[in-house]
Amino acid sequence: MRILIVEDEKRLAEALEHILKKNNYTVDVVYDGEDGLDYIESGIYDVVVLDNMLPKMNGVDILREIRREGMDVPVIMLTALGEISDKVRGLDAGADDYLAKPFDTDELLARIRALGRRRGEIVADNSLSFGDISLDPSNLTVKYQGGEMELTLKECQLLEYLILHKNMVSSKEQIIEKLWGFDSEAESNHVEVYIHFLRNKLSAISKNVVISTVRGVGYTLKIKE
Ligand code: CA
Repeated sequence: MRILIVEDEKRLAEALEHILKKNNYTVDVVYDGEDGLDYIESGIYDVVVLDNMLPKMNGVDILREIRREGMDVPVIMLTALGEISDKVRGLDAGADDYLAKPFDTDELLARIRALGRRRGEIVADNSLSFGDISLDPSNLTVKYQGGEMELTLKECQLLEYLILHKNMVSSKEQIIEKLWGFDSEAESNHVEVYIHFLRNKLSAISKNVVISTVRGVGYTLKIKE
């Protein structure tokens, strides 16, 4: 899962980045409202952690704007302690959840998991199932009949992305944006390499899950008949 943090308090932003990365999320951080809006509009995030009081544009205005544009990315609003009216405004503007500062990072992680989960198919806890496998991104393991296998971080992120977008064809560009970020220098052969690794692993553990190539378009996860 790729998470955007929009928070102008540098130390809090860095602490959140650190804890989310430790939990195997891909994280980007921006420090003002205008950058926040730009990044959210890229459409590559699974969850946005959005502070309310921000330079240039506040969180509630960002939220109104992206909901007006029809973007349904889950958003957790952060507000200062006790600002109940902010909570109400945030929820009215289209926030999915809300945390008052100071908050417990375990609480934030639980909320993020709950929001991210809405997009996938749930088996139990944090896992995503597809065919005869289920992926647990929190510990980089994929379970299959008779065992479990560890994946590297990128393989795990790639498989997670393909499961979450199982009914569509994902282009190499979309995968690069998701796994490396849209200003990265990763190229399409990076994707090919990781698709190759992941295919090898899937063929060893799964009887029916395959990554199929749609020539000239991209990749899609399929269940073999
Ligand atoms: Ca702030």
